[in-house]
Amino acid sequence: MDFRFTEEQERFRHEVKDFLAKQLPSDWLHGGAPEEETDEWWELTQNFLRAMAEKGWTSFTWPKEYGGQERPLWEDAILGEELAFWRAPAMDYWYRWKMISALLLNFGDEEQKRKHLPGIARGEVYWCQGFSEPGAGSDLGAVQVRAVEKDDCYVVNGQKIWTTGAHRAHWCFAPLLTDPDAPKRSRMLSMFLIDMKTPGITVNRLESMEGAAHLCEVFFDDVRVPKENLVGERGRGWLAAMVLVNIERSGTGFASLPQRILEELVEFVKDTKRNGVPLAQDPLIR
Ligand SMILES: Cc1cc2nc3c(=O)[nH]c(=O)nc-3n(C[C@H](O)[C@H](O)[C@H](O)COP(=O)(O)OP(=O)(O)OC[C@H]3O[C@@H](n4cnc5c(N)ncnc54)[C@H](O)[C@@H]3O)c2cc1C
Repeated sequence: MDFRFTEEQERFRHEVKDFLAKQLPSDWLHGGAPEEETDEWWELTQNFLRAMAEKGWTSFTWPKEYGGQERPLWEDAILGEELAFWRAPAMDYWYRWKMISALLLNFGDEEQKRKHLPGIARGEVYWCQGFSEPGAGSDLGAVQVRAVEKDDCYVVNGQKIWTTGAHRAHWCFAPLLTDPDAPKRSRMLSMFLIDMKTPGITVNRLESMEGAAHLCEVFFDDVRVPKENLVGERGRGWLAAMVLVNIERSGTGFASLPQRILEELVEFVKDTKRNGVPLAQDPLIR
């Protein structure tokens, strides 16, 4: 079996590399600051995302009827690999777009698709992922943020945490607890689209150990989410969440980013000397 990329795939990889070389500042390789940390980085990120959208890379694999290009998943994997390797500023947003578009395309109704997909394709509407809570991380099924059906909406109360980019996001996709009495745990959650401007939402930025401030906590205080923002069937939010987590965690970027760090480490130990000897030749370092 031949595992090499085809000529067409290699051509595409070069196209992505050329694009990155043109879009990123010349000193970018030495930078690597988290994209949402300052307004300046955010400006750069937005410009980058718009440029990606112009290439059609925000809607790369979608069906043509929704403005996509129906490109093969292999090319999508190459794109993810290169974006991560070069530490493109838009990585987080690009992944969340992949997740929200998969949610809409697989579980959304026609109205939800027509309403939300164009903004993603244009690279203009930003989404955050409201999965984790103080008591629900690896154990996502323990989600406690409550959504209670009332009149024409669901009333939402509770707290999400580690919501990357919530302070910049226009919308959030989140599994919420609608049916705590369901016989199976996997039927207790439902997936919602939440407009971040809805009254009752408070976003606080959290500073991480590395000094970045793009992680947030999001509080919901009697937030009224219209019923039409429920995605898919009520009680099937766990299924949708598993599909999305699968997309997120299988991203090729998770392999190429560490590869880049390893390459930099090798360069560092070759170039840096201690007592006149490169670190790479120091038995302790080796
Ligand atoms: C940079 C960053 C960005 C993030 N962005 C987002 C975001 O945008 N949206 C969002 O919703 N979340 C986000 N998260 C949260 C992330 O998804 C959670 O951190 C993750 O789900 C793990 O949850 P936790 O931190 O509560 O850890 P825990 O679930 O408390 O796990 C802590 C440790 O215990 C281990 N552990 C847990 N359960 C078991 C078990 N049963 N048996 C053995 N070991 C176990 C885990 O492997 C881990 O090592 C982000 C996290 C990071 C670091």
